[in-house]
Amino acid sequence: MTKKTGCALAFGFLVLGLILAVLLSPRAEFIVGGGLVNLGFRLQDRLSHFDFEHDESITPDQVWVELERQNELAAGVRNFFPRTVRHPVVAVLACMDARIDISELVGDTRRYYYVVRTAGSVLSPAEQEMLELAVINGVKIIVLTTHTDCAAEAAAADPELREKFPALISLMDERERRVEEFIARPTIRDAIAEGKLQIKQARIDTSTDRLVVDIEHHDAH
Ligand SMILES: [Zn+2]
Repeated sequence: MTKKTGCALAFGFLVLGLILAVLLSPRAEFIVGGGLVNLGFRLQDRLSHFDFEHDESITPDQVWVELERQNELAAGVRNFFPRTVRHPVVAVLACMDARIDISELVGDTRRYYYVVRTAGSVLSPAEQEMLELAVINGVKIIVLTTHTDCAAEAAAADPELREKFPALISLMDERERRVEEFIARPTIRDAIAEGKLQIKQARIDTSTDRLVVDIEHHDAH
């Protein structure tokens, strides 16, 4: 057996062992998953040359020079992996709840989705403008989500918290009205009527990540 074949066999056994361990033991699965997630970070940890090197006496100018250097490196990497030339066609409004990760929900959203996060998925005029801008830029589906076990919904039902967070609670109370207001904006209304845009109102099951559409807004076809 050559050294190369030996290495390939050892690697094969290692992978097989890991797969078996993952299948047989939830604890092994947890550790292997965590190890894979950490692998990239740990590889970078060793490269102290690329660290933000400083002591506490660093000046703002020096911080900026370092930041530019890091960016130069990132831009150099980007050069090898050009980003998609395609424009996002989906915009998602979701609660800021940390359990919800839009990429876990629908796949890799980087560069492919506009994602707007607010507590309780509230839709103030500022977010309405953000989503309208996204439509002008080519978005064809907007998914307005809420989710189960939402802390902002719980706060809206709690007299003490209502008093403590009046601005958020008033937006929570107006949530449905704000959605109607958004859909009635001329750009949005016309895009829906022309069949260029659909809006889905959906509820995320926080425990399963399943997206259940409750209401759909689209043209009559
Ligand atoms: Zn929430």
